[in-house]
Amino acid sequence: MTSIESKYSSWPCPHCASFKQIDSKMLSCEECGEKLRKSQYRIAIEYAEFVYRFGHLFRSVYEKQLAEDNRITPVSFEKSHPIALGATLVTLSALHGPNTNWFLTKQTVKRMCNSYNETFDDDIILEDSELRNMNRNIREFTHDFSESDTRLRNAVFEEIFAEYCPRQEHEKLLRMQQQVREAKEADKIQLEKEFDSVFQKVMTKTFKKVSKLPKPEPTELNSYWSKVLKMM
Ligand SMILES: [Zn+2]
Repeated sequence: MTSIESKYSSWPCPHCASFKQIDSKMLSCEECGEKLRKSQYRIAIEYAEFVYRFGHLFRSVYEKQLAEDNRITPVSFEKSHPIALGATLVTLSALHGPNTNWFLTKQTVKRMCNSYNETFDDDIILEDSELRNMNRNIREFTHDFSESDTRLRNAVFEEIFAEYCPRQEHEKLLRMQQQVREAKEADKIQLEKEFDSVFQKVMTKTFKKVSKLPKPEPTELNSYWSKVLKMM
């Protein structure tokens, strides 16, 4: 990274959608002049990362696999692209309030792409259809995911579980699974019972932790992107 690039935040400014925030405790945007506390914005970005990965990325791939092969083969993803996180934040804003409509969503993502390309010479493009898919997936994930296909939902929940289950407990479950595999027929049922009981406990604990992940307030999401159209 050159010294000029390292001046900039890798998060989009939630007011004007440029990637020109100066990275410090208070993020101040060189483009629109707005400031916000980094620790506060980090909560929004981390939540966007969670929603993007599990609500959209894994879901999109597994949904396609089910449609094409009628089965799911687990995949993994690198850290999400900053524009994808920005697009998720805009989508969450649109889902949470009246200030962000479809037109503003599209203009915001377009501006993020332009700003990012200028600074980083990257060529990620979020097309209209991808943005529409994201909108549908994120709406379902944050509102009514229980109504989606059971196999799809379980596959996404497994990914969440794998990422958020404490390592020690995950290792314990793997050891127990191994014991079940190696056990004599006569002992198998009892060991499986024990595994199920521990698994249920760990799962409940893990999803409790996930449900407590900090989220940005709807009023905060609804205050974003107010300068996008003015700056174009
Ligand atoms: Zn700005």
